[in-house]
Amino acid sequence: MSVEFSPEPPVADLARRTAEFIRETVIPVEEQYRGVARSEKIRVKLRQAAKEAGVFAPHVGTECGGHGLDMRGRAAVYEEAGYSLLGPLALNIAAPDEGNMHLLEAVATADQKTRYLRPLAAGDIRSCFAMTEPAPGAGSDPSALTTRAARVPGGWRIDGHKWFITGADGASFTIGMARTSGVPGDSGGATMFLVDTDNPGFKLIRHIDTLDENLYGGHAELLFDGCLVADDAVLGDVDKGFHYAQVRLGPGRMTHCMRWLGIARRAQDIAVDPAAHRRMFGSRLAELGMAQQMIADNEIDIAAARGLILRACWELDQGHSAAQATSIAKTFCAEAVWRIVDRSLQICGSLGISGDILLSRFLREVRPFRIYDGPSETHRWVIARRAVRQREQAAR
Ligand SMILES: Cc1cc2nc3c(=O)[nH]c(=O)nc-3n(C[C@H](O)[C@H](O)[C@H](O)COP(=O)(O)OP(=O)(O)OC[C@H]3O[C@@H](n4cnc5c(N)ncnc54)[C@H](O)[C@@H]3O)c2cc1C
Repeated sequence: MSVEFSPEPPVADLARRTAEFIRETVIPVEEQYRGVARSEKIRVKLRQAAKEAGVFAPHVGTECGGHGLDMRGRAAVYEEAGYSLLGPLALNIAAPDEGNMHLLEAVATADQKTRYLRPLAAGDIRSCFAMTEPAPGAGSDPSALTTRAARVPGGWRIDGHKWFITGADGASFTIGMARTSGVPGDSGGATMFLVDTDNPGFKLIRHIDTLDENLYGGHAELLFDGCLVADDAVLGDVDKGFHYAQVRLGPGRMTHCMRWLGIARRAQDIAVDPAAHRRMFGSRLAELGMAQQMIADNEIDIAAARGLILRACWELDQGHSAAQATSIAKTFCAEAVWRIVDRSLQICGSLGISGDILLSRFLREVRPFRIYDGPSETHRWVIARRAVRQREQAAR
């Protein structure tokens, strides 16, 4: 198998210009707001700046004003955008909008694209994705889905309880998962619905107080309460929701990895600078073996994470499901990024714990990635099952 990793010259150029934009325009704003943008004014200002710099919406097709990057191209550009906590927001490649755009490009009708994809790609509106439910509903195991959609004249009535829905506050629409056939525990029977958030049956109950704060619009608990939608609200085909979730999740996992790899690299850069100057025990910190080990382990984790992302992206670009490769890359990256930021903080000593630099903020932001997009344990479980199945098939 031959795998080409180097980006084409136009993609390499876009990645270089993205890195420059992040350094010159985004990081000063990030430092001013401690990595958390809460106001529309900041979001609009950053997006306008990204448009002017020609780096906006690199993922969507040119007909939507983007650069139409494939997954390997995204890996190069998103890592640069992810070098700042506010970079993905500026480029319009933050979760959950980015994954929703990918899904809409793949599945939506022409009318749905005009109504939802175009304004989302332009950065004029925001969206969310509503799958997870409080226990005993859908979580690591999506088949536990309890939210129901029942046929009514002219459309559907949706009822259910969701939580941890990122970006719901201020979103214009959600892609909601509801069961249209079967019972909780069945592996099929889910459908995706496009629901406008001004629908009287869409109710935001509360903002959930969480460890992380960077993802725009927070994480909300919400209700579909007798939520009536027309037939044209169905995204794709009825009962195919779990299949479409995979269309969104495989690439979505990888784009999260790319963005967080950018933050991991930044953490390493932040730590190496003081290590190169701080003197103790008659030498520079960077010349003491245990500090060198942490710096080297960070480099190893960064290189390995990038390699696994690229391998999975290559498979996705070939049109494969890449289920095993994306699970492996996601598990490794989520844990590696945590290790890298944690080691970087350790190298900086008490400065790392302080708010004077952003490492403690990074640490809080990367921790949930070991849970969303599939907890590490769920991925390890499926990775092992596939490995055993492969051996069994080979033995037949
Ligand atoms: C910051 C954040 C943002 C999120 N944003 C969204 C969003 O926008 N939309 C949305 O729909 N959801 C969102 N989620 C929800 C996320 O997808 C779920 O948290 C995730 O799927 C896990 O489900 P759960 O929290 O219900 O955990 P549970 O399913 O209750 O799992 C609990 C624990 O069980 C363990 N476990 C899981 N599988 C196995 C296994 N096979 N073997 C052994 N142990 C296992 C893991 O340690 C796991 O952490 C978000 C979550 C977070 C934390």
